[in-house]
Amino acid sequence: MEPILSLQGISKSYGPIRALNDVSFQVPPGSVFGILGPNGSGKTTMLSIILDILKADSGNFSWFGQPGSPATRKRIGSLLETPNFYHYLSAVNNLKVTQAISGRGTPEDIERVLETVKLSHRKNSRFSSYSLGMKQRLAIGAALLGNPQVLVFDEPTNGLDPVGIAEIRALIKELSAQGKTIIMASHLLDEVEKVCTHVAILKKGTLLTAGQVDEVLANEDIVEVSAANP
Ligand code: ATP
Repeated sequence: MEPILSLQGISKSYGPIRALNDVSFQVPPGSVFGILGPNGSGKTTMLSIILDILKADSGNFSWFGQPGSPATRKRIGSLLETPNFYHYLSAVNNLKVTQAISGRGTPEDIERVLETVKLSHRKNSRFSSYSLGMKQRLAIGAALLGNPQVLVFDEPTNGLDPVGIAEIRALIKELSAQGKTIIMASHLLDEVEKVCTHVAILKKGTLLTAGQVDEVLANEDIVEVSAANP
């Protein structure tokens, strides 16, 4: 089956800092694909490149086997940084604003999205009254507008309490069960073990290995490197 995303030889430097060094891997359709590595290993740089926010110095990548096709962008939803939601607006109105600005999806999408992220019961409450976990679920909801086939998340459970973490992980599994392919950066080995089907491990910008989680994590040397995360 055609990979959802295929990267070949991606490199990126910031001045003297080599953030990514000749990274290649493929994301299979239907996978929950973890990009695992400690802080500074190049995860955000990688996600920014595949979302066309940053340009790689060398190498190339293609989504859905179609290099450079602008039509592919609509099939990808992303959450890299928390969106600038309005604190005094409700969830439903915040999503209306996001939908209008981004042009992704239709106003009818909003109820469906709120249901998916389990915020329907609080859809008319002000954003400022939400817990951190609820705010993050709304941010994932914004990424779901337009019903994209692929979702790209950067450290989606960062900064949340254990309940919030569990809810986001359950939501990711649910989205996967609905048939979406999910690419997510994480610095937590146990998160990748619990949530992901596949993983690429980065260390100082270099790919150590990539493959199915159970196979990759059966290698004790790799587990040692990954578990050394802060
Ligand atoms: P974190 O989880 O801390 O964000 P990361 O794995 O996502 O880490 P990146 O943020 O991609 O890693 O950073 C990779 C390397 O590139 C690090 O050494 C970082 O300091 C450096 N870097 C990232 N962005 C910039 C930038 N805008 N200018 C200079 N150096 C940068």
